Amino acid sequence: MGSVQIVTTILAAAITAVAVWLAVRAVLKMVAVIRLGQPAPDRFSDKVARARTMLVETAGHTRMLKWGVVGAAHWFVMVGFIVLSLLVLEAYFEVVTPTGGLPLIGHWTIFGLATEIITVLGLVGILVLMAIRLRNRPTRLGGRSRFTGSTMWQGYFVEWIVLLVLIFGLLIRGFKVATDHFEYPVWATPVSHAVGAVLPDWSDGASVAALIKIAISMTWLIVISLNVTMGVAWHRFLAFPNIFFKREPAKPAGSGLGALRPMTSQGKPLDFEEADPEKDQFGVAHVEQFSWKGLLDFSTCTECGRCQSQCPAWNTGKPLSPKLLVLSLRDHAYAKAPYLLAGGGKDLTGEEKATQAQLAHLDVLALAEADKPLIGTAEEGGVIDPDVLWSCTTCGACVEQCPVDIEHVDHIVDMRRYQVLIESSFPSEAGVMLRNLENKGNPWGAPQNTREDWTKGLDFEVPRVGEVDDFEYLFWVGCAGAFEDRAKKTTRAVATLLNEAGVKFAILGEGETCSGDPARRIGNEFVFQMLAQQNVETLNEAFEGRDKAKRKIVATCPHCFNTLGNEYGQLGGEFEVVHHTQLLAHLVATGKLTPVQPVDGGVTYHDPCYLGRHNRIFAAPREVLGDAIAGDLTEMPRNSERSFCCGAGGARMWMEEKIGKRINVDRVEEAMATGAKTVAVGCPFCSTMLNDGVNGKGAGEQVEVIDVASVLLRSVKPEQQQGGKETAPVAG
Ligand code: SF4
Ligand code: SF4
Repeated sequence: MGSVQIVTTILAAAITAVAVWLAVRAVLKMVAVIRLGQPAPDRFSDKVARARTMLVETAGHTRMLKWGVVGAAHWFVMVGFIVLSLLVLEAYFEVVTPTGGLPLIGHWTIFGLATEIITVLGLVGILVLMAIRLRNRPTRLGGRSRFTGSTMWQGYFVEWIVLLVLIFGLLIRGFKVATDHFEYPVWATPVSHAVGAVLPDWSDGASVAALIKIAISMTWLIVISLNVTMGVAWHRFLAFPNIFFKREPAKPAGSGLGALRPMTSQGKPLDFEEADPEKDQFGVAHVEQFSWKGLLDFSTCTECGRCQSQCPAWNTGKPLSPKLLVLSLRDHAYAKAPYLLAGGGKDLTGEEKATQAQLAHLDVLALAEADKPLIGTAEEGGVIDPDVLWSCTTCGACVEQCPVDIEHVDHIVDMRRYQVLIESSFPSEAGVMLRNLENKGNPWGAPQNTREDWTKGLDFEVPRVGEVDDFEYLFWVGCAGAFEDRAKKTTRAVATLLNEAGVKFAILGEGETCSGDPARRIGNEFVFQMLAQQNVETLNEAFEGRDKAKRKIVATCPHCFNTLGNEYGQLGGEFEVVHHTQLLAHLVATGKLTPVQPVDGGVTYHDPCYLGRHNRIFAAPREVLGDAIAGDLTEMPRNSERSFCCGAGGARMWMEEKIGKRINVDRVEEAMATGAKTVAVGCPFCSTMLNDGVNGKGAGEQVEVIDVASVLLRSVKPEQQQGGKETAPVAG
């Protein structure tokens, strides 16, 4: 070993020792913080499916590749990080001797070839990612950048480290080539040979370059260890467990979509008949009341901003960005952690758990952080502003896009639950809706005995459950379908089409009550459970004696569809629920309904969030429209998985939209830009919002917003065309 190698070896060992010590300390700190969360026993089920999904999502980059070039570039950088870690290891042999290499595989041509290819592709990948980050930097694009609010220096730092590590990897090889100590043939490592051709014949070159490469890598490790909230770096490790522990591992995408999680206390679902707010946790009031998976979610955020770029609230000037919400919770959790780890925290009655002695030596910043209310305005020092919390439509665009499977909607609703159930703090205008649900069983407060009014004037009898036993489908009409003028037309269209196709169906009539979706999404789990239990009982009675496969329900409202199909199982109600567009598509495909007159003038389709993203039903409504209209469907730029919300979900239908541009107006402008005369929808809420938007733009005479079923009815029974424009909605 020469004198240069003695120095390089000592320096490499020293910086590595420091970096590893700091990294171990950082990992222990992170684990301690995550363990502060509440239990989540359901996250340990089905480990095989979890492992499979984790491998598919990471190795396959299933989310990222939907982002085209950036996804591909990120894949190469990820593979580069994993495989080229071996070359960092090899550098430790090279600081000892410039001709050194990894034992065994370090001399295989296949290893030389593979690492050469990955180095080159990694270089291309990181340069692309750097260019994309620069092109999208907030100072250039302002609020339109997905990086707005991200910690930009961290992104630049990580990218430069990757670039330099790759470059020094090539330099090490180049010096070996220049000194004639490189074992791989030119055909397997042409770039290394080209680099070597321009480097001097310096015998210590490889050792010095290896030391610099180790120093760069260890600098990265030191910096991220000193910044445990640096998700842009830590996600390289945390993404794996975060995906492994996702809510529903068998779901290929958007595992945090569809059903909401039940309200839990100590990891167990809460039963309101026995729950006690002094003993049980009602929603989330403090950051440590999220489950450990929630804290892992916050730690894993890469700050990529894909969620933010798709969020309807953020895109219309509201203060909510799912990314910034997650970052606020993350920073708060880590800043409060010293207080919690010292034994601090409030019990369920609001009393401090720690003794004065326990808190005596705590940093004042940690104590100040502990005093912050989780939900509160800037003046109150709140972590999350109420306007942020209540701007969410629960559309799921954030969950859908997040490459590391963060479950934003669950976290938002958990915080809403505490605000509604314990603090009674929510936008006051929604109080009318909640009162109506409790007293009248529907958000409009309409008399229950008018639930069947929509049947009046039909030229056939609509059978009720109890009057007939041999029905195949129970037609779940929903509150909008029963009481809201425009939605009633959809209900009538669906009933007419089912009757035309000879489908045996029956309704519950006055036996139906609200599915509970708006109560659950606003956070009132108590009212949700009250309504849901009543419905589950009624439905179980209606289907008594039938297997699950024969407990078929067709619903026109995607919110009811989602709640009945995905959430009633949590309360003992197992049903086969289809959306009416699915059933209509089937009836057309099997020849039971025959469109005869194509609807012309151009048609575009707006995907309802709770049908599309939350339940992945994109094809059925398009199939129905494809059969019923003249020409092809005109798609809006934001469609299917990336459809833009109408603004009504998450109980936003019953709240005023006072900040920024109205979401429905944004969507209507997009729909109208297609030039289509008909905007087809598959949801009564979307219908209301988009009709409002069209009328607000004074375009009510030129553009019509109607349900897919009404489009089909016009094509199947043109003589029954529903004339005239539909009336303006009444909400609230
Ligand atoms: S669910 Fe929709 S509105 Fe809510 S934060 Fe996510 S993207 Fe934004
Ligand atoms: S998409 Fe996921 S990882 Fe990216 S910023 Fe949003 S929450 Fe973080």
